[in-house]
Amino acid sequence: MADLVIAEDYFHDKKPVGKTSHSDGENKHFIWPVNTGKDGVAFSNDEVKAAYAEHGEEMVELGIHGTTVAVDWDSCTAEGECFAVCPVQTFQWYRTEQDIPAADCLDATFEGTGLTEAGEKLDKSDKSQPIREHDCTICMACQEACPRGAILIDQANLEWHEKADGTFVKMEGSGGPHSHD
Ligand code: SF4
Repeated sequence: MADLVIAEDYFHDKKPVGKTSHSDGENKHFIWPVNTGKDGVAFSNDEVKAAYAEHGEEMVELGIHGTTVAVDWDSCTAEGECFAVCPVQTFQWYRTEQDIPAADCLDATFEGTGLTEAGEKLDKSDKSQPIREHDCTICMACQEACPRGAILIDQANLEWHEKADGTFVKMEGSGGPHSHD
């Protein structure tokens, strides 16, 4: 397994910079501040850079998409391993639903109609979008499979999603991840 690029406590002192909503009106995944940024492997990957050039788009820092299923988009090089192993199709190739600059996913709404097979990316500038984060079974397979270490799976981070969403309920005396602010 590759070294993970998202620290275990990454979310603890962060606020989201935006979100991508699901058109079902119920679900969303938050977008978090830049983590690896320009040090992320996407910025030095020739195929990714060529795909951006083909689109006529500037490569900008994209941050982390998702919270319990957290994908560092600056480290994602569209390898597709997460698509291949996910049993519940958490991920979609965002460009196969909306071919827009990745930065414009911030505060956009997606229907979840993008392609979900490993080899179906539009090109190497596409990204693994955790559009069905809410369906994740925390099997850990994608975290283990990602050759870039770009995915962190942690059910305990639901706390930070719920706090961002305004739905967090403090559980008195549980001792679990919901027991503190
Ligand atoms: S942890 Fe398992 S179910 Fe969740 S997104 Fe990864 S592969 Fe899919």
